Amino acid sequence: MAYLARLSLSSHDKSKIVPSRHGQPPQPPSNRPKYHPVGVEAGCPAVGGARTDQPSQTYMASAAMLLAQVRACSLCAEHLPLGARPVLQLHSSARILIAGQAPGRKVHDSGVPFNDASGDRLRNWLGLSNEQFYNPKQVAILPMGFCYPGTGRSGDLPPRSECAPTWRAGLLAQLRMLRLTLVIGQYAIAYHLPHESGSLTEIVSNWRRYGPNVLPLPHPSPRNNIWLARNPWFEQELVPVLRQRVSVALQGDGT
Ligand code: SF4
Repeated sequence: MAYLARLSLSSHDKSKIVPSRHGQPPQPPSNRPKYHPVGVEAGCPAVGGARTDQPSQTYMASAAMLLAQVRACSLCAEHLPLGARPVLQLHSSARILIAGQAPGRKVHDSGVPFNDASGDRLRNWLGLSNEQFYNPKQVAILPMGFCYPGTGRSGDLPPRSECAPTWRAGLLAQLRMLRLTLVIGQYAIAYHLPHESGSLTEIVSNWRRYGPNVLPLPHPSPRNNIWLARNPWFEQELVPVLRQRVSVALQGDGT
């Protein structure tokens, strides 16, 4: 992140940045939201496509420019109760992608992704220290909506539907060294595993079918304590596999 923060962009550079708008807006949910991540399935490591051994300077600069543009985004600010404050973590060297839902209130206040009880549980599941988790050269964190969407009667509202079609394909295309994508919760599953139609429990319990580079996970929120209690196999069976895959993905990352 420090590398990215140090990059200064000329107005000429900024003028070349155009947010990716080639996805179709999500359709009204049947039982899960639908996304059409055009350009993501083919060749994107986020869904198991080919990766290169080293990110080029071009990719690093491109990632930095995109990140700067996302952080200046206010596309749907009028619908955000606390205004636009995109919270994400990205570097073109990242080995692991955490595809989550949207920041909660505490994360909005701090501007630090997963700086809450959900993050504590997630880091425990992954077997990562704070230092590793917040190293953008190791871990990219791209929720489906980058800004806090507000809270409804049964918890936080869904990620804003404008966000993923605008930004996601372009950001994912920067992750050329990705080895593992962790798909957290129904909204990220709808985007990254668009052909799945079962319940979250069915999809997570069928984790073996997605190969070694993608793992669907429940959201680590305390709101899911009941789900975790009803599905003890998750922490007994899948969390050890998750830790092993995270460890392998970060081996030899050179950071
Ligand atoms: S949620 Fe996404 S599209 Fe909306 S203002 Fe934030 S970054 Fe922009």
